[in-house]
Amino acid sequence: MENRLKSLLTTSEKLVKLKTEVEEAFGVPALFYINPTLSHLGGYDHIRAQPTFVFHPDHINESNIAHEMIHALQKKSGFPIIIKDLVNDKRFTVIQELNSNLLHINLVEQMSNRGIDVKPYISSTITKLQNFIHNKSDVKKMRSIGIPRTHYDAIVLLRLKYEAVYIPESRKRKTYRLYKSRYPEAYDLFTELVNIIDTYNMHAPETTKEAFKKCLQLLQKEADYSMYIKLLND
Ligand SMILES: [Zn+2]
Repeated sequence: MENRLKSLLTTSEKLVKLKTEVEEAFGVPALFYINPTLSHLGGYDHIRAQPTFVFHPDHINESNIAHEMIHALQKKSGFPIIIKDLVNDKRFTVIQELNSNLLHINLVEQMSNRGIDVKPYISSTITKLQNFIHNKSDVKKMRSIGIPRTHYDAIVLLRLKYEAVYIPESRKRKTYRLYKSRYPEAYDLFTELVNIIDTYNMHAPETTKEAFKKCLQLLQKEADYSMYIKLLND
């Protein structure tokens, strides 16, 4: 597995180019690790000064490696990246998901400009999202024990809209309609978020930050989430 990572980093022209860009931007060599206990596909550690990436051994592919390296470039150019473990409750999941989804609008464009397929890194998430709307018993059970998922559902739908560039609009509309009928509050919130996002240039760091703030302002209307704005202003 380790060999596969090494070989991709030296044989894929697109990854070689990206790695050079990352190392030039940070002025130090990039570090790459494999971790079989990772709960997600991969990650970029934005806390460390040296660009550091970790991947699950089952998800070593051009798409996923490029995805994480583009996040490093985004951080260096000033896109908003929230601090890890800022709050220790459900709000953090929502903020993190929103941040990730907003960054991915630019990320998906960068990947297509570089001729890198987005599907391998995002398709499992999108499939989960599409299945989640179907009233399966495990989903019902999960929903009944958790806090209301309105915010999370609304934000997750952004992935389908902006990241799933390989899915035809007609198929996306089917999922939207299901959300609209089953979780109308989440669907309405999704629409409001889209209205905000579409008025900003999501390919520039400053305007992405503005959009992020506006989205958080919308979410903080609910008492539970009053800390959103406070966090961002800190
Ligand atoms: Zn990402």
